[in-house]
Order: sequence, then structure tokens, then C-alpha cells
Amino acid sequence: MESRTFTARWILPVAGPPLERGTITVRGDKIESVDPAGVRSADEDFGETIVIPGLVNAHTHFDLSGAAGRTIPVPGEPFPAWLTRVIAFRRSRTPEQVDADIRLGIAESLKAGVTLVGDIAAGGLSRSQLSMAPLRAVVFWELIGTTPERFQTSLHTAMLGMATQPNTPACRWSRSPHAPYTVHRRGYELAAQLPGIQAVHLGESAEEMELLRSRSGPFVPFLQALGVWEPDGLIRAPAEFLRTHAELRSLFVHGNFLPGDTPLSANQSLVICPRTHAAFGHPPHPFREFLARGVDVCIGTDSSASNPDLDVLAELRELHRRYPDVPGETLLKMATSNGAKALGFDAVCGTVEAGKSADFVVLPCGSTGDPYSELLNDSAPAQRRTMFRGEWR
Ligand SMILES: [Zn+2]
Repeated sequence: MESRTFTARWILPVAGPPLERGTITVRGDKIESVDPAGVRSADEDFGETIVIPGLVNAHTHFDLSGAAGRTIPVPGEPFPAWLTRVIAFRRSRTPEQVDADIRLGIAESLKAGVTLVGDIAAGGLSRSQLSMAPLRAVVFWELIGTTPERFQTSLHTAMLGMATQPNTPACRWSRSPHAPYTVHRRGYELAAQLPGIQAVHLGESAEEMELLRSRSGPFVPFLQALGVWEPDGLIRAPAEFLRTHAELRSLFVHGNFLPGDTPLSANQSLVICPRTHAAFGHPPHPFREFLARGVDVCIGTDSSASNPDLDVLAELRELHRRYPDVPGETLLKMATSNGAKALGFDAVCGTVEAGKSADFVVLPCGSTGDPYSELLNDSAPAQRRTMFRGEWR
């Protein structure tokens, strides 16, 4: 098997410092070597470009891709009002439309340079398409049930469904006990019978925090109208919940309203969705405090029901615009190696590094001489070329 060596103006391996005119040598589907300029001669020169690891979208819902422009959040309205529109959208979709929505979400992700995705899937429905697509995926089967009995039914369906499609090296099952307002507190223990990492929406809205704190607020009539109001089944405070589940490999989603000193263990990652956060008009996100405490913070796009598109790099640009004090190097880590760690694929991908899968994205760059500034300030939809497992996609 012959090796191929590539060079570019900048290589940002994430595993180490930027390499100006460095090289990446690929053999088969793996990276054989990453070297500074002058060590190897290149077979192909990408010219004035930046090479970054394949992007990781740690949180999305492909089955909501068809909601684009139809369920736009209205800043200031109670969170359950938006949920009501999303539920109405879901109920309006035929199985064929849901299939098409998932296809659209995968296509958008491929175009954006995503090579690893964590997709929350109602009924596990995205699994078949994801296992055929040229990217890695963790499919989180969405579980809901505000009583132990209802949750058990959801769990049983998931167990049967997962058994029909075993894990492959590139596509794995996980579980998503959806959120504190849709899952009985015992559901989190019951769900641990299913494999993988649990993904839980937590601290997403002020209304959710009010519900957990005082069993009151706009969530009460919303849950009553759905016939699932079970105040005794709610978890107590998020901090206590996180402490009692510290041993479980978990991915907590949003955390918009978690106090910055909320304890997260080494098993617990936090995925933030910057443009969705902005669309709801939430106050500044506490993610910098979590990063400073060494928490694994990664990036998700959430779904087209609340986000303009599924472009992970656009999420980084939003963060850079709102929080310019966060170094570009940290932001790129969040969208690559931190996400790979959160999804349990860090031994395989997430950095451009010898021994890892040959996954990387090539983007055009200008002439400022600062690769991070080039990556984070360019607002035009750049042409991107993606290599996945040693092949151009
Ligand atoms: Zn979500």
C-alpha cells in the first residue's frame, strides 16, 4: 500500500501546534505521519488552504431537518411554546418525510465537513441511513416516559430495535433519556441497561430550571395538556442529578442555565449549541467557566428546528464573535477532539495525528498569517474538501 503526502499553507493538527507548510502522510485509511516543513516532500500541495481534523457535531436531531424555517424560536416567549410548535411539526410528518428529513441532515453535515456525529433519533430511525453514509455516528435512541411504566415501554422498544442492527466500527448505538421534563427520575437508572453513552438535555431553559426548583411555571400547563404531568417523578436540582450520576458516561446537552460552578465528573461532557442559544436570546453561556475547570465542552448544532443550518464551523464563528476572549485553538478543540472524546471515538479520530483515521477538512485561507483568525472570521460559505478514512468524500 503506497503512502501519499499532502501539504498546505497551514495544518492545524489539534494534537499539536499549527504547522506552516507542514505535511500529512496517509497510508490506506490511516494517518502515518504528521511533520513540520522540510521533513518530507509532498505528492500534492493544497496551496493557500488550512487543514483541520474532520469536524464533530456532538448534538443534532436529523429527523427535524424538515422543520427549517417553520419552528423558529421567538426570543422571550416561554420555552414550552416553541416545544408545542416542534411537537405539531413532528406529528405532521409522514414516515417518508421523516426519511427525507434524515437524508437532508446527513447531506448538510457531509457538505459542512462533519466526519463524526451524535444524532438523537426518535425510534432510532436515522440508524439505517447513517450506517451507509461516509461518516461515523453515534445514534442516541430517544427515550421518554414520565412514569416508570411509560419509560419501561419506551426502553423495551429501544432494546428490541437495537438488537436488529448491531453496532459496526463506524456506527454505534447509545441512549438518550430525553430531558428532566419528559423522563421519570428512575428512567435514568433503567436506561443504563442500554449500551453506550447517555445524552440528556439539561439546563436548556429558564422555565426548566423553574420547574425543577419549584414544580411551577409554564411547563406545568404544557405537561398537563399533554397528559404527562407527574411532579413526583421529576429529578431534584441539576447539580444533585449530576452528582448522583457521576459514574455514568454522559453527554449533557445545552447547559444554558447551569451555574458555571455546577460539578461535572470526568465521565460527563457538556455539548453547547451556540447559534441555537443565540436564537432563543438566552443570557451569556457559562461554558468558559466549565472549560476553565477542565470539563470536556464540545459543539453541537442542535436541529434545524432552532438553528439556521448544521454547519459546525459556523457555530465556532458565532462563539468567536460573542466571546472573542476564547482562543481559536480552544474553539477548534471543542469542535474536534473534545467532541470525539464525548462520543467515545477519541482513540479513532478527532485530531490529525499518526495512527488516527485519515479524516480531515481542507478550507481556503487568506493572507493574514494567523490560521485561527482565517478559520474563525471568514463568514462566506467556504468551499470545503473532506477526506474520510483516506478517501475524498
Ligand atoms: Zn436537542
